[in-house]
Amino acid sequence: MTIIDGKEVAAALRKEIAAEVGEMVAAGQRPPCLVAILVGDDGASQTYVGNKEKMSAEVGFSSRVLRMPAETTEEELLREVEKLNADPEVDGYIVQMPLPRHIDEQRVIEAIDPRKDVDGFHPENMGRMALGLPAFVSATPDGILSLLKYYKIPTAGKHCVVIGRSNTVGRPVANLLSQKGWDCTVTICHSRTANLPEVVRQGDIVIAAIGKAEFVTGDMIKPGAVVIDVGITRVPSAETKSGWRLLGDVRFDEVAPKSSYITPVPGGVGPMTVVSLMKNTLKARKGL
Ligand code: NAP
Repeated sequence: MTIIDGKEVAAALRKEIAAEVGEMVAAGQRPPCLVAILVGDDGASQTYVGNKEKMSAEVGFSSRVLRMPAETTEEELLREVEKLNADPEVDGYIVQMPLPRHIDEQRVIEAIDPRKDVDGFHPENMGRMALGLPAFVSATPDGILSLLKYYKIPTAGKHCVVIGRSNTVGRPVANLLSQKGWDCTVTICHSRTANLPEVVRQGDIVIAAIGKAEFVTGDMIKPGAVVIDVGITRVPSAETKSGWRLLGDVRFDEVAPKSSYITPVPGGVGPMTVVSLMKNTLKARKGL
């Protein structure tokens, strides 16, 4: 059994991106520019945006964060989106989710110029991705694919069972793995799936994106399966200083001995997501 090291893969990809940006700058071109809009003061969102800013600097991008108060109106936010759409110096930008409840997230996503939508949430990018056309693929599905590629895990003809059908993780990763080049036979499970353990047991590759701590137990896994755990749930813990720890959707102690490859939580899929955003920003700079 191999524990997939997301930090190692992310570091390798970061190095590749930094090298390409270095060449760009040495050739007299401007580096890619990424902007993040952060509305309100949600602690987790501030951490995520901080990480994105830090990694942008590490790979040589120029970046900035546009901080807006929680009371920002939808119209005010849309005006900033329009400004970024029109700014030729900005290659890509993200609007950090979740937005305050009085703002319609979908309306904001659809206002983003699809050519600058490095989060890959715009319906045009989702549609292009689903059709196998060049597109910005959102960070988590792209991160999962990068892990499979880095570890040279065979996918052709494999039965991949994806648990979860969200627009950000389950649905896109299932679609991508069914496409030519990946060639999996894909089953998607959700909260209405009958006999879920039986279905999951058929998976050569199991991707769990549910958000329920330790939902996937050892008895649900076929011996030798590849297990990708996307879930992150904070649970109280007496053993950590912070008073909580992170659990995945997979019961690691039971599942790991049965699997051929497995991602840990934390340190598996998580570290990949910011690097995938950097990949998209570089792609935006060069044109899709
Ligand atoms: P989501 O939008 O809440 O979707 C959860 C999916 O799981 C839904 O499709 C739901 O089915 C399904 N589900 C819930 N309970 C189920 C059950 N008992 N049996 C079968 N399916 C069930 O969540 P998400 O955004 O995809 O995120 C999933 C998890 O991944 C969360 O823990 C999130 O924090 C984590 N995440 C991690 C990263 C990372 O960087 N590692 C990135 C993104 C998300 P229905 O559609 O039928 O309701």
